Amino acid sequence: MNIEQGPIRPPSEAASLLIRVTRNCPWNKCTFCSTYKGKKFSRRPIEEVLRDVDTVRRVSEQVRQISRSKGFGGKITSEVVNESGARYGHLHYHVASWLYYGGKSVFLQDANSLLLKTSDLVEIINYIRTAFPSVERVTTYARADTAARKNDEDFLALGNAGLSRIHMGMESGSDIVLKMVQKGITSSQLIQAAQKIRGAGISLCWYIMPGLGGKEHSSEHALGTAEVINAGNPDYVRFRTLSVLKRTPLYDMVQSGIFTVPDEDDMVEEQRLIIQSLNGVTTTIVSDHVLNLLQELEGTLPVDREKMLNIIARYLALPQEAKNNYQLGRRAGVYLKLDDMQNKNRFNYVQSLLSQIGGPENINKELAKIRRGFV
Ligand code: SF4
Repeated sequence: MNIEQGPIRPPSEAASLLIRVTRNCPWNKCTFCSTYKGKKFSRRPIEEVLRDVDTVRRVSEQVRQISRSKGFGGKITSEVVNESGARYGHLHYHVASWLYYGGKSVFLQDANSLLLKTSDLVEIINYIRTAFPSVERVTTYARADTAARKNDEDFLALGNAGLSRIHMGMESGSDIVLKMVQKGITSSQLIQAAQKIRGAGISLCWYIMPGLGGKEHSSEHALGTAEVINAGNPDYVRFRTLSVLKRTPLYDMVQSGIFTVPDEDDMVEEQRLIIQSLNGVTTTIVSDHVLNLLQELEGTLPVDREKMLNIIARYLALPQEAKNNYQLGRRAGVYLKLDDMQNKNRFNYVQSLLSQIGGPENINKELAKIRRGFV
């Protein structure tokens, strides 16, 4: 037994069952993205998707059977998860892990599920919710241009069927930056999409990319992004700091000197400018990705604004040597937050790593290399 699954999901959907409703990305032109390069977009026939849901239901029954045979009475324990994977392979492991976390959340892949007819998407969501009454949340990725073209009734139908959240790559609110990176969306489409999605009671999460304007458009990028957030008031904004990947058009722009990658401090300054410029929103900021230097930069506006600005100020006030230590320690997985530097053992370990890479002058190159490994 098997089902078709796509390559990615948001980190916050780690406990979700993945159901693929379309394949790859219909746009596939963003200069910083290599996820679906060379792969053709297609809609999966609805019968095929529903068949996958049926397969997952059968796999769930098998997993529960394994639990009963081991004396757990149908309860999914870590032992049942491992046994399911060892006996039957990846799909059983995935479904068992999903059940282990309560079978509460489903993520619809790939990059832009809203390209399906609304009635098809509604049918899929209804089918999933009927098959698995434990499901509390169904989420998906969508592009802003597609969302802006849908009407209010579409989103009401999706919300009523139980689409709980849309994850959307905003990247920047600046039209100059969006055009430069060939995102294929505009600030006004982002705002229209936000109004329609949130108007239907569906939660919206925007992903923004510090550094994407390059040194050339850094403040334009930050201010434009804050302006669009102010207009759209998404439920969540997640930072995903820029990492320039080899074999992307953006990498070629860097090589030819058209785009200058901001250094770590510039990108933190951009985050500061964005947070300082947010007004009248109730958005929750999340930094739950290893690409972000300050993963502790989290909070809900407006109450946590000062707390977040203080974290940034604390980092920026560090002497250069301590910054080098923190940057490398963070990227090497030694630190999660600034306070972790107080641990002498960890600090000294990172100092030894710094001397291995040949001192601070090589740090930017080394950090970029490590960051590329995270994408
Ligand atoms: S829309 Fe998303 S998946 Fe498609 S190319 Fe752009 S960043 Fe990549």
